[in-house]
Amino acid sequence: MIQTKNLYTPPEKIISNMIKKDRLAHSFLLVGPQGSKKTEKAIELSKILLCKNITKKDNLLTYCDKCSSCRKVNSFLHPDMHIIEPEDGVIKINQIREIKRILSLKPLEGKNRVCIISHAETMRIEASNALLKVLEEPPNGAYIFLTSPNARLLLPTIVSRSIILRCKPKDFLTLFEILKEEIPQLPTELYNFSLHLSEGNLDKAKVFLSQEFLFWRKKLFSYLSHKKAWVKELFFLTEYMSQDQDIFNNCLELLKSWVRDVLLFNKHGACPKILNLDLLAFIQAGSKLYETKRLYKFISQLDFASVAIVRNINLSLFAEALLIELKK
Ligand SMILES: [Zn+2]
Repeated sequence: MIQTKNLYTPPEKIISNMIKKDRLAHSFLLVGPQGSKKTEKAIELSKILLCKNITKKDNLLTYCDKCSSCRKVNSFLHPDMHIIEPEDGVIKINQIREIKRILSLKPLEGKNRVCIISHAETMRIEASNALLKVLEEPPNGAYIFLTSPNARLLLPTIVSRSIILRCKPKDFLTLFEILKEEIPQLPTELYNFSLHLSEGNLDKAKVFLSQEFLFWRKKLFSYLSHKKAWVKELFFLTEYMSQDQDIFNNCLELLKSWVRDVLLFNKHGACPKILNLDLLAFIQAGSKLYETKRLYKFISQLDFASVAIVRNINLSLFAEALLIELKK
């Protein structure tokens, strides 16, 4: 059976599954573009941890929204929920020290205490290090939700101790219309592709729709969809990918979408959920070339690359090694 753990999973499902397995993590990082309402989502998820009458809905464990705890969260009066926001544009070390103190105390109402740190990317190094100490040894029943547009804006040591939850902007259709108006006359599936790949970030979506990116997208897919690797092709792709971190990251997202599409094609054929629908021939070719097991290995290699990229690495060597490895 095809697993979906690396495809998009809604945050509430991830939390519900962890509670069911009695393996709830202590730190979560909510990422998503502007307008994806990350702090609101964190408050909603806090309700699952604080609710006195946790219920099952559509096979998910969720809050009741009726008990005294849920009502207090709704009116921002719950004594075990704390929301920290930047002061003068920065989350200060004193705020983190205060969190540390609060989380070490016994909860006042139920079993858990929750702290939400909004715009965690505004923490400077001292505050980040202070938070890291809390994450290293979280007190029993203490849970932290961090929000940031992007995981790369935080210390890798904080990211590695947190479960990443992705938030999507709600109004996809409006974004679709804006994009279509600004960059008209492209096939519908390309707007869809760029919005999904950018997770609703319009500026990024426009980059994905640029002639340059679409050109290299085709090159990259063609490279993956043939058994043989040509040295010349590898050279040009490496050169393109390693120009800067943004381009490299965009290519990683693209490669992930290719793997996701091949997995979808294996299971459902040419279904509308495939993101790179205009390049279906390459997806089909990939499906013939790689086994499902190999495709899952691809995903872990690409995930590893996303983390490794934040370190100071030689992009060119790294891109070349990754492209060679993917063809093995
Ligand atoms: Zn409740």
